[in-house]
Amino acid sequence: MEEKKVNALLVTHRPNVLYLSGFTGTSGFLLVTLEEALLYTDFRYLQQAGEQVSAFEIVKVENYVDYSHVTGQLTRSGLKQLAVEESHFSLRELNILKNAAPGIELLPLHNFLEEIRAVKEEGEIELIARAAGIADEAWQELLPLLKPGISELEVACELEYRLRKKGSEKLPFEFIVASGERSALPHGVAGKRIISEGELVTVDFGAVYGGYCSDMTRTFVLGEPSEKQREIYELVRDAQEMAFKMIAAGQRGAEVDAVVRQYFQQYGYDAYFGHGLGHGVGLEVHELPVLSPKGQETLQEMMVFSIEPGIYIENWGGVRIEDLVVLRPEGLQVLTRSARTLSLG
Ligand code: ZN
Ligand code: ZN
Repeated sequence: MEEKKVNALLVTHRPNVLYLSGFTGTSGFLLVTLEEALLYTDFRYLQQAGEQVSAFEIVKVENYVDYSHVTGQLTRSGLKQLAVEESHFSLRELNILKNAAPGIELLPLHNFLEEIRAVKEEGEIELIARAAGIADEAWQELLPLLKPGISELEVACELEYRLRKKGSEKLPFEFIVASGERSALPHGVAGKRIISEGELVTVDFGAVYGGYCSDMTRTFVLGEPSEKQREIYELVRDAQEMAFKMIAAGQRGAEVDAVVRQYFQQYGYDAYFGHGLGHGVGLEVHELPVLSPKGQETLQEMMVFSIEPGIYIENWGGVRIEDLVVLRPEGLQVLTRSARTLSLG
């Protein structure tokens, strides 16, 4: 905060509230000044906050936009400026805050805590690795159930059930199960479609453990794949292997993404790779760093992110393979353990 010349910070984004304070309730916000740290929450969460939070003074408020205590605190401390998380603040919240504190200047911050969160501590990596492990185990149990005639929804359901049983606290996102021509949709959520032999199927899923997410994708064909399916699959897998070997601390997200894009270009498939190479994963399933043409952050040791090249061909199908990695001094450590096998069943 001193670096950014911030004397008082209002934290409203839930993953950031959790990161700083340990509070998991769905209603609560933080005020952090250079001297004080306060957690504001309502009646429903007072006991929970008392159990989870030790470094913050807990203050009862009426609701999640009751900022009167915050402005009172600022006045008492003689502070005239308050930093807010601009990406996580609604117009309504902004207006309420402005009305409660007409004399206070608001300083918008973008990605302030997100940049800090991008570099993990060992304990955080352990939780992410456990979430990745739960997903691997659930996937392993799903494999024998994958037979022609199963629907996309059934695949999602069987996975969700097994993830929960193995300790996933919730679903990190709506799972993608996209089969046949639908596999060309990078974000095709599971539907009623029945999966047949010889079709590409993309399954993108994860677990949550200790509040931390995992994210992985496997693409497969039930039965014998066609030559083209094999060719595209191997291209994507080789691109991912190349990324595993090449990525090192000090590179920018955009640089790393460009290398994989150029590799696809050699084979004429760069136009079919319509999303970024990867993204940070932690308390949120999509966080910093961004590995895409827009990724300006420099990759640092102890960052955790996905590597997920994909090729999507309209009216034909798509292939994506996604694994989670940690950037270590010696290179990338892959957290996802599931085999990458095209042909199943
Ligand atoms: Zn994913
Ligand atoms: Zn992902």
